Amino acid sequence: MDRQTKIILKKGREESLMRFHPWVFSGAIAHIDGSPAEGDVVSVWSAGGEFLACGHYQIGSISVRVLSFDSQVLMPDFWESRLSAAYQARKAFGLADSSITSCYRLVHGEGDSLPGLIIDIYGDAAVMQCHSAGMFKSRERIAEALKKVLGTRLNAIYDKSSGTAPFRAGLDLQDGYLWKSDSYIADSCKQVLEYGHKFFVNWEEGQKTGFFLDQRENRLQVGKYAKDRNVLNLFCYTGGFSVYSLAGGARHVDSVDSSQVAMDMLDRNVELNGFGPQSSGTSCADAIDFLKNSDDGKYDLIIVDPPAFAKHRAALDNALRAYRRLNANAIAKVAPGGFVFTFSCSEVVDHNTFALTVFSAAASVGRKVRILDRLNQPADHPVNIYHPEGEYLKGLALYVE
Ligand code: SAH
Repeated sequence: MDRQTKIILKKGREESLMRFHPWVFSGAIAHIDGSPAEGDVVSVWSAGGEFLACGHYQIGSISVRVLSFDSQVLMPDFWESRLSAAYQARKAFGLADSSITSCYRLVHGEGDSLPGLIIDIYGDAAVMQCHSAGMFKSRERIAEALKKVLGTRLNAIYDKSSGTAPFRAGLDLQDGYLWKSDSYIADSCKQVLEYGHKFFVNWEEGQKTGFFLDQRENRLQVGKYAKDRNVLNLFCYTGGFSVYSLAGGARHVDSVDSSQVAMDMLDRNVELNGFGPQSSGTSCADAIDFLKNSDDGKYDLIIVDPPAFAKHRAALDNALRAYRRLNANAIAKVAPGGFVFTFSCSEVVDHNTFALTVFSAAASVGRKVRILDRLNQPADHPVNIYHPEGEYLKGLALYVE
């Protein structure tokens, strides 16, 4: 820690930290005592001189991401103790060391009191993604701690921060292995298990850390409703929902994504789980156009899982219009007695707003729609109760008469 650097807040601006909210916004700062570099650990103090927290400093609207509300961050075992707590939680959730699931999120940023850090586990490999300069600069220490916490369960740590850590901090951003054990067989394409289903994951070439682990429980739900259905999986990526649908007894699944790389992997995943090509069709296309051009009533289970339409508040209105149009089309097209599973992963669209948008979409096409389930992000993507902004994935399961 740069012990010299103190961030002194404006009078009255300590309140959110007193409630354990883990961000200090630039507008709350009265002055900075010292000259921190991006990624340094700094301490935060109230105008009255009271110590509040320690965290990573960064230039931007969020100036400090809090690591600790006491001086724990100064202790040598800080990383090990946080990672160990995250691992214990995944064990409690039945995810770590499970015989049917070998991939899960070990660290989910603020949800695990480690703002700016993501660690996903794929079998014996960990993929780390740093979203802040502070985490990126700490990655070697984090990797050491991770090795201690996971022991022989771990054979490799891959850093995939080049697209997420800030460039301007003068960081040398290059993805690659931080560590490999002697027994690690280098393979950028690993086979993992999720609820007993097999998937290939390629973290070097795939999106995010390689797989959308956050849809695990929702895929399970879809699988339960898929029997004898003709399924359309829009924004399918590598086929998570497609495989669960087939395993659930779907008659046929058509999957659509704009990424050919993802579609190729989907074909492999379908085959890997023992389903023939006759049960699965793929289209590399714009999912919105594909839906518009599909015949009314052809599908009786439609999954709509687009990328975040609103990445920030300024884009919210346009995003809501896009969600409304897309959902109106899905509800209009699905066969009578069919299901629509619809999602939004935009942080700035909350559950209520999303539900209202889908409600308005349903009203615009005039069909009778029942909500049969409200869907969320899973336990390994936890929401820190003091940081409600962390609730980003929401969905609705609809029955359309
Ligand atoms: N449902 C997936 C995750 C979806 S992520 C799963 O369970 O794994 C969103 C996907 O949308 C990405 O694969 C991305 O390639 C795709 N995508 C983005 N824009 C698209 C568009 N306009 N049409 C089709 N696919 C699109």
